[in-house]
Amino acid sequence: MIDLHAHILPGLDDGAPDLGEALSMAWLAVEDGIEFLVATPHVMEGEYSTDREAILSAVEQLNSHLDKYQIPLKILPGAEYRLEPDLPERLARGELVTLNDGGRYLLVELPPAFVPPYMERVLYELQLQGVTPIIAHPERNASFCRHPDLLQVLVCRGVPAQVTAGSLTGMFGREAARMAIYFLEHGLAHFVASDAHSSTGRTPVLSPALAEVKRRLGADAAWKLKDNSRRVLEGRNIAIEAVGKVPTGRRGSLRAFLEKFVSKRRGG
Ligand code: FE
Repeated sequence: MIDLHAHILPGLDDGAPDLGEALSMAWLAVEDGIEFLVATPHVMEGEYSTDREAILSAVEQLNSHLDKYQIPLKILPGAEYRLEPDLPERLARGELVTLNDGGRYLLVELPPAFVPPYMERVLYELQLQGVTPIIAHPERNASFCRHPDLLQVLVCRGVPAQVTAGSLTGMFGREAARMAIYFLEHGLAHFVASDAHSSTGRTPVLSPALAEVKRRLGADAAWKLKDNSRRVLEGRNIAIEAVGKVPTGRRGSLRAFLEKFVSKRRGG
């Protein structure tokens, strides 16, 4: 299996703090059947300013430690970029690391609480340079959960999304779990990745989430998710299928409110 999103490079962000933790995470990934893991440290103005060279050299170093300890996992370069207005200019200057450094897919995260006004312009300008942005964990963004049609607009323009494995297994609460399945079911999410940060808590493990997808949406849906990750590593296109109309408005929060109301009435 392939994991497209993990904070495994030691000391670069809020993921693995040191080599020991990175190696523990690597073992967990191997035990889960992961063969390739894309290291995606946060890059965010004012918080994490890791540059391209630092990421590439950290990947090389971690791979040499994995060889030394005979851990059968290959780390590939990548990054998780906060959606910032100058992202297209930085891409044009060759400063960014695309997934597997293949020049085709860029992992982009939004602020958790809202969608910035420049989102559509930035994503479009990345696409004009031949790069497909992938929206990280839309099920953990309040605006996408309340207004799935906002995500649908992006998907219809060829911007896919990635849900977090832990969301599907309930790690981020019922609302994130429900929205992760909802996005997958409606063709609004195209990848599952771990977004691992440590060897405890948010771990580099995909199997339980894929089992949940298989249980809820069928074996084909789970297979397609794995195939899409492979396509990204190989720099190939993924199928972004036309999706039916999703409800507009505050669907997410209304449903959450009703669930809360019903569970209270039941004494839950
Ligand atoms: Fe992340």
